[in-house]
Amino acid sequence: MKTIGILGGMSAESTALYYREINRLVRERLGGLHSAELLVRSLDFATIAEPQARNAWDETAAILAEAAARLERAGAEAIVLATNTMHVNAEAICAAISVPFLHIADATATALAERGVERPLLLGTRFTMEQDFYRGRLRAAGLAPLIPGPADRERLHAIIYDELCQGIVTQRSVAAGLEMVARGQAAGADGVIFGCTEIGLLLDPADIEAPVVDTTLVHCEAAVAFALA
Ligand code: GLU
Repeated sequence: MKTIGILGGMSAESTALYYREINRLVRERLGGLHSAELLVRSLDFATIAEPQARNAWDETAAILAEAAARLERAGAEAIVLATNTMHVNAEAICAAISVPFLHIADATATALAERGVERPLLLGTRFTMEQDFYRGRLRAAGLAPLIPGPADRERLHAIIYDELCQGIVTQRSVAAGLEMVARGQAAGADGVIFGCTEIGLLLDPADIEAPVVDTTLVHCEAAVAFALA
């Protein structure tokens, strides 16, 4: 089994999900007392969120590239960056490592294709929904992603940073999230991407009448497929 390096803490709430899910998948595949070979580098999210808010992506790139390189030096045989948003720095990270970088949008595009989704509603931070680093990669995979309107994008961004990343889930925000999904479906979405690694803490795919791809879960599946290949 290969060792996976998880670059996380963005936020710690979702890195905990990665740790649990990757270990669960390895136990499911190998049985008994098996668990994953993991290195977890969990950053202080405040040190990333601060430059994010200033759009200082070169500063976050330097931090993440260095952290990924250290994971490789520590023995990681692939890097899993446990946040959609920070894939904005994927190029800088890849340039700093020589092991594979398992891109979350690639795992997501594959899962959408398997479910027959062509026009997914992309839910995530404003950075993920509005910039091209993520939607562009989905488009390159033949998908036509939709995003919520400006008011919904603002609301969802606030829910992610002010609540989910701080371990807070409110019924009000659950209802708001489901309303965003309904508006997306009315606008023609034929599926939903939980395109932020904390959205699975807020929304339950069972409450959504369309195929859902939770990026956290499919990213974990990609990591385990790599580790056990
Ligand atoms: N975990 C989130 C994501 O998947 C947001 C936090 C961050 O900005 O990294 O995008």
